[in-house]
Amino acid sequence: MARCPECAGKMTFNPANRMMVCNSCGLSLTRFELDRYWSKVRDERTSDADVVQREKNRRKEWLDWYSKSKDEKRYE
Ligand SMILES: [Zn+2]
Repeated sequence: MARCPECAGKMTFNPANRMMVCNSCGLSLTRFELDRYWSKVRDERTSDADVVQREKNRRKEWLDWYSKSKDEKRYE
């Protein structure tokens, strides 16, 4: 079942103009536009997850470095 990219409402195919029409907000897109929209959203989600993971790794590295340098200072 197709979902509206704007409001996640149910979209139904309108054979009159060959468009997918949202039952909730009335947005109409062609099948092609809808597919393209969702693959774009998927791409963005994937890269977002990558950024979050990289940011987590960086923070962990920094914390490791920070706690290590604190330990080293203690022994000085
Ligand atoms: Zn909608």
